[in-house]
Amino acid sequence: MAYSIEITQSTTRKQKPDPNHLIFGKHFTDHMFILDYSVEQGWYNPRIIPYQPITLDPAARVFHYGQTVFEGLKAYRTSEGRTLLFRPDQNFKRLNRSNVRMSIPELDEELAIEGLRKLVEIDQDWIPEVEGTSLYIRPFVIATQASLGVAPSHTYQFLIIMSPVGAYYAEGIHPVKIYVESDYVRTVKGGVGTAKTGGNYAASLKAQEEASGKGYSQVLWLDGVHHKYIEEVGSMNVFFKVNGTVITPELNGSILDGITRKSILELLASWNVPVEERTISIEELYEAHKNGTLEEAFGTGTAAVISPIGQLCWKDEEITLNGGETGELSAKLYDTLTGIQRGVLPDPFGWTMKL
Ligand SMILES: *Cc1c(COP(=O)(O)O)cnc(C)c1O
Repeated sequence: MAYSIEITQSTTRKQKPDPNHLIFGKHFTDHMFILDYSVEQGWYNPRIIPYQPITLDPAARVFHYGQTVFEGLKAYRTSEGRTLLFRPDQNFKRLNRSNVRMSIPELDEELAIEGLRKLVEIDQDWIPEVEGTSLYIRPFVIATQASLGVAPSHTYQFLIIMSPVGAYYAEGIHPVKIYVESDYVRTVKGGVGTAKTGGNYAASLKAQEEASGKGYSQVLWLDGVHHKYIEEVGSMNVFFKVNGTVITPELNGSILDGITRKSILELLASWNVPVEERTISIEELYEAHKNGTLEEAFGTGTAAVISPIGQLCWKDEEITLNGGETGELSAKLYDTLTGIQRGVLPDPFGWTMKL
């Protein structure tokens, strides 16, 4: 099906930031995509317009009750000047799963991808070319109806904005220090942890701030009921290599179904590395560290791709993993996945979409 997306080109072009010193999410491209929703018309009026502020009534429901969802993905420029998107279909499928959980009407995934393709094409000279950089893409939905009644909104907007981002590791991949949070919780089964929604992040800021104050870069969340079982890290899923087997928490109804996580599981299966998706307690991990079988740990997410974990601190006991160095498997996964994303390595899984 062909969609008619109305395009209004910006008459001016912004100055682009220095590609060697990009700050995450600070600069935005010249255009944005918008789609409206009303009960009468469904999703309508897909359009690309100059990047600009949006006007909302102060009573818009998103401000009061947080009815909103978002996504995050990247576009890469290959060395031959082609543009690649990484598994965008997965992002829009997940956006719709988040929509269902947040009582937001689902949108046409094909239309969203078409809007994204056109937007990236129009702003393609914003994709930075310096090694390791990319164009970060942020699709999101907000509830726009002006009403303080606690009920699903009757109107919404879906938008896509884009921002050039730097190499996550300026000096090459390196391990981070993680604080295991035993008081605050992110979510519980039955809550909205499986949805990519703003409130999960609002709820995480306090713990993140306190962990930063103690010198840790991220928080590792434990389950909300027993404060015992591993869930995930900040905006990343988490993996451990114990005695040759890679283990990661199963999708238990409170963690986010990461696309990087899914890709890592598919890569590991193709390499015949033994993998277990199951419940893991923090005690089990500390025990494995004591008996010398905890070999590597890493987080996975769109921003960092793979983030090796060098230290874990749980209840004042800090342990160092793999001598604080990036593990062999973490490095291999990082090189392979970023190689596929950038079109440097073959893509046997058909993950990348050419523009
Ligand atoms: C986005 C996100 C992730 C990572 O998902 P990717 O699709 O791999 O980027 C993990 N956890 C949370 C809470 C997230 O919001």
